[in-house]
Amino acid sequence: MGQIVLICSKESINAMNKFYEKQLLGKNPPGSVFAAKTSGCTITAYQSGKVLFQGNDCDREAGRWQDAGVPAAGKLGNAGKPGISGHTAAGKSKSAAAKGNVPTGIGQMSVIGSDEVGTGDFFGPITVVAAYVKKEHIPILKELGVRDSKDLNDEKIIEIAKSIKDVVPFSLMTLKNDKYNQVQQAGMSQGKMKALLHNQAILKVLEKIAPEKPEAILIDQFVQQSTYFLHLKGQKAIARENVYFSTKAEGIHLAVAAASILARYAFIQYIDKLSDAAGFRIPKGAGSLVDEAAAKLILKKGPDSLSSFVKLHFANTDKAMALVRKKRG
Ligand code: MG
Repeated sequence: MGQIVLICSKESINAMNKFYEKQLLGKNPPGSVFAAKTSGCTITAYQSGKVLFQGNDCDREAGRWQDAGVPAAGKLGNAGKPGISGHTAAGKSKSAAAKGNVPTGIGQMSVIGSDEVGTGDFFGPITVVAAYVKKEHIPILKELGVRDSKDLNDEKIIEIAKSIKDVVPFSLMTLKNDKYNQVQQAGMSQGKMKALLHNQAILKVLEKIAPEKPEAILIDQFVQQSTYFLHLKGQKAIARENVYFSTKAEGIHLAVAAASILARYAFIQYIDKLSDAAGFRIPKGAGSLVDEAAAKLILKKGPDSLSSFVKLHFANTDKAMALVRKKRG
């Protein structure tokens, strides 16, 4: 009979409790929050945050919660040793299995994660953050609410960012609109801009934490690995050692989730600054709202003002100009 242990936040355990509502055993072992039994698995959640999955179906049941919990060290066979695929007593554990070229067990390692925000927003800069999360800080970051930033609203992002910014060593790179437009017009692709920013942010964090070294560096993937390094050709310093790429990396290591939250926090603050400068609320995204806002800005401050507010090569620029012509009649 196999067993898997996950370490989960109170929130996740509450969610599990609700999920297994109809299968609760009604009798809780000492120190437990709940115990439930499916046809192939017994699930026991403890107040300590440990959740034990026992039975032939433990892989499948624990797999449901793989993003909510960190597999407990030592319980998952080779998890934690890079390059070796993890096999538990119950067979291959989904939560510890390598995703792409990412080493097995990376979720429990001390990792620099890197992510960017703003690439699809007409208004505002690109912000890239690399953040270092030591393995012993993973549980506290979970408690502080660090998770996929796509599930969090701005209010929550700000709250979490404020609570982690002094705990987690990180580096923020902001490519402001004027500079963005300048390099874009000189022919640089957004992919290359991102690669340069990620590399700089990672190098800065490596410097900050030295002589300590991360066990891995995980970049939320935006291009193929080979293209990434091609973009960096000619750079004086390139972080290469232990660099891994994965899409949806926020779900693989909390360092990427933390980086994403901090990058979004910086982006939100920058949009606030732009709003102050514009004298009205600047919207995010690239929909019709931003066309309207840009038209308003042109009417108020002239077309030349745009380059310090927006990414000029977006189709929104022409749409805003058309709106201005219409308004001027
Ligand atoms: Mg990303």
